[in-house]
Amino acid sequence: MFVGHYATALAAKAIEPRAPLWTLVAGAQLVDIGWSALLMAGVEKVRFDPSLPGSPLDLYYMPFTHSLPAAIAWSVAALLLCRILLKLPMRAAIAVGLVVFSHWALDWLVHRPDLELWFGGDKVGLGLWNYPLQEAMLEMGLIALGGGAWLWSRGAWDRSAWPALLFITFLVGLQIFASMTEPSGPIAAYGRTALIVYLVVVALSALADLGGRKQGQASG
Ligand SMILES: [Zn+2]
Repeated sequence: MFVGHYATALAAKAIEPRAPLWTLVAGAQLVDIGWSALLMAGVEKVRFDPSLPGSPLDLYYMPFTHSLPAAIAWSVAALLLCRILLKLPMRAAIAVGLVVFSHWALDWLVHRPDLELWFGGDKVGLGLWNYPLQEAMLEMGLIALGGGAWLWSRGAWDRSAWPALLFITFLVGLQIFASMTEPSGPIAAYGRTALIVYLVVVALSALADLGGRKQGQASG
């Protein structure tokens, strides 16, 4: 799962607008932000296996980001950071924490069994990655739902739609580009590229959140 993760951020923004969009977007991919950094550091491991159907990622070691207890810890940490450092309202901080956890739940749908239920324990994953077309349809469907909710809420707050439409279009383009790109090369460089992409998406989400304030009053 790649851009489908952002759907929960967009839907959460519609439900809890006091959470800045960038915190939700960073939250949706926080586990993978940590993962890409740990790949660069050589702590977590992946290898590329082009013979695998769909995604060629063989994610054979990632206990610190993608095990169930780790995902819960990242979610709680994000909630606390939002509450203590960013001083977000409790509901908004909880929204970010839930969005962080949604990453693991969505990964569970698509990953082959590589998500540990406990450190060194059983690994789970329903493996939708083995069916690339269905997997792509799931990601696009999630973006359509989450993006639709976000667009609707922007209309309700009298914010123009175009920054949101540009951001959603960017996400769809990113997904198409990623699906056509075969990962290769050193793992550290792959991790660095992934990290840059995740951070660019966070920055663009902050711009989309700022953009499109309309002049004048809502007509009710
Ligand atoms: Zn992930």
